Amino acid sequence: MKENIGIVGAGICGLSSALALSKHDNSITIYERDSAPPAGSPDEAFFDWSRRGAAQFRHPHAFLGVMCNLLQENYPELVQKLWEAGARKISFEEMVPDELKKAYVPQPDDKQMWLLMCRRATMESVLRKYVEEIPSITILSKHEVVAPEFELRDSTISLQGLQVRENRGPVRSVSHDLIVDASGRNSKFPKWLGDLGATISEEREDAEIVYYTKHYQLKKRSE
Ligand SMILES: Cc1cc2nc3c(=O)[nH]c(=O)nc-3n(C[C@H](O)[C@H](O)[C@H](O)COP(=O)(O)OP(=O)(O)OC[C@H]3O[C@@H](n4cnc5c(N)ncnc54)[C@H](O)[C@@H]3O)c2cc1C
Repeated sequence: MKENIGIVGAGICGLSSALALSKHDNSITIYERDSAPPAGSPDEAFFDWSRRGAAQFRHPHAFLGVMCNLLQENYPELVQKLWEAGARKISFEEMVPDELKKAYVPQPDDKQMWLLMCRRATMESVLRKYVEEIPSITILSKHEVVAPEFELRDSTISLQGLQVRENRGPVRSVSHDLIVDASGRNSKFPKWLGDLGATISEEREDAEIVYYTKHYQLKKRSE
């Protein structure tokens, strides 16, 4: 059945969800609070795209094996576009530390354990452009979801739609058959649904990773 789907957030999860759901002839609208990327290359996105919703936007990112294989199998043209934009493939063998290299015996499954690495700005702008070109998907930038539209019957919450504000303007209601919350780790949905009586449990783990990034630019020959 063709569904009218609303997705909150055009980060990696929102864009990927739209990509997967578009295969089933659904009509999809993504609401994203931030502005649209500038026209042009991923380099321009890196310097000029105001991406307040993803604080890690200028850090390098890597897609891990599961995601890489999934993309390669289902969306090879997207992976090709990432290579063309400068992403690099790192094989498992390349990741083996020098001190273990001598003892390393390749296993057949190691081929599945590759990484796709690039700046998040590259990853996101290439993915977004690819998703935007799918006719059944519409991305509405500068559209903030401010509340859910719901019906409460016999203590069952049924989400009917969303309250959306464009560019901090007046709030309007939009209806959807299905809503996907892809608004990231600061999602307000647990609170909104909790206020209506739903119990939503959340698990948090400290990643114990801190990283700093420094970017260099190669000098052009004429400089
Ligand atoms: C420093 C750092 C490095 C990382 N490196 C990697 C890595 O190398 N590989 C990897 O796989 N993961 C990495 N991660 C994790 C990865 O970035 C997150 O898992 C990923 O961004 C989650 O995607 P998401 O789409 O759920 O959320 P987000 O990327 O946070 O996107 C949420 C989107 O929703 C929008 N939004 C929020 N609220 C609303 C609203 N009310 N209305 C409309 N829009 C809204 C935001 O503007 C944003 O665009 C890293 C994270 C950090 C912090």
